[in-house]
Amino acid sequence: MSIRSHASTKPAKGAAQGFSAEAKKHLGQHFLHERGIIAKIVQAVNPQPGDRLVEIGPGQGAITFPLLDKHGELTVIEFDRDLIFPLTEAARAHGTLEVIHRDVLTVDFTALARGGAPLRLVGNLPYNLSSPILFHALDHAAAIRDMHFMLQKEVVDRMAAAPGSKVYGRLSVMLQAYCAVTPLFNVPPGAFRPPPKVDSAVVRLVPRTPDSIGIADPKRFTEVVRAAFGQRRKTLRNALSGVADGTMIEAAGLRPDARAEQIEVAGFVRLANIMPSLSMPT
Ligand code: SAM
Repeated sequence: MSIRSHASTKPAKGAAQGFSAEAKKHLGQHFLHERGIIAKIVQAVNPQPGDRLVEIGPGQGAITFPLLDKHGELTVIEFDRDLIFPLTEAARAHGTLEVIHRDVLTVDFTALARGGAPLRLVGNLPYNLSSPILFHALDHAAAIRDMHFMLQKEVVDRMAAAPGSKVYGRLSVMLQAYCAVTPLFNVPPGAFRPPPKVDSAVVRLVPRTPDSIGIADPKRFTEVVRAAFGQRRKTLRNALSGVADGTMIEAAGLRPDARAEQIEVAGFVRLANIMPSLSMPT
């Protein structure tokens, strides 16, 4: 369902009062209320004329309305039916809001971007869905200009981790292969209602151009990274047995006795790229 709301009338006083006070835990609802943090997010996004902003999970509009005030128009994707009407009503005072009432994981960002500028995604994401949302966005990276997401700080640390770090893993390699990952600032639990049990952080992701990514076969790359980190304590030779042998690993310039957590992103790219040619009969 898609609902359009246009800023044609002045809102009734207290238009936002239709919001239910109760946050739904299963939808990861932690509503931002700290004005300073909201301002920092809007400042980080820094909307410019012509930008196509899409917010994932607008909730009660904490980021939505300031973005609308700044930019005038915005598309939001919200799953919670109870939030749609109050959000649409309250948005009239701020700008033109397009509401897509769907599970974000079913939204085709490529189709959404068609015929216009690439999308700028924004969102204080439901933390239980953050990895699926990140991987879904990666599937549509060519349609996305950048992303500014609030996530668990621990997830942002993993996304931005360097080889050798304890938290460097599949998420780090997959995201860094396709995007420039920049952690921006941390956010304490008290900035939300109800407060989550963990610290949060805002991160900027800028998808790389297909040329600069250099991955020949994305499916193969995903398989290699998954296999390598599936058994992160093992050596590459053992973790990748059945996928790549020692000769392939060496041909990619890597040591078969190294462990996945020591391999930089470019090493995984080389390994995945070399595999099809090496495994083809000559
Ligand atoms: N943006 C608001 C804020 O900062 O106060 C709300 C953020 S809250 C952490 C996450 C939001 O994502 C909620 O509004 C929730 O209903 C919505 N949400 C949860 N699962 C979703 C899904 N699968 N698709 C779209 N929205 C979802």
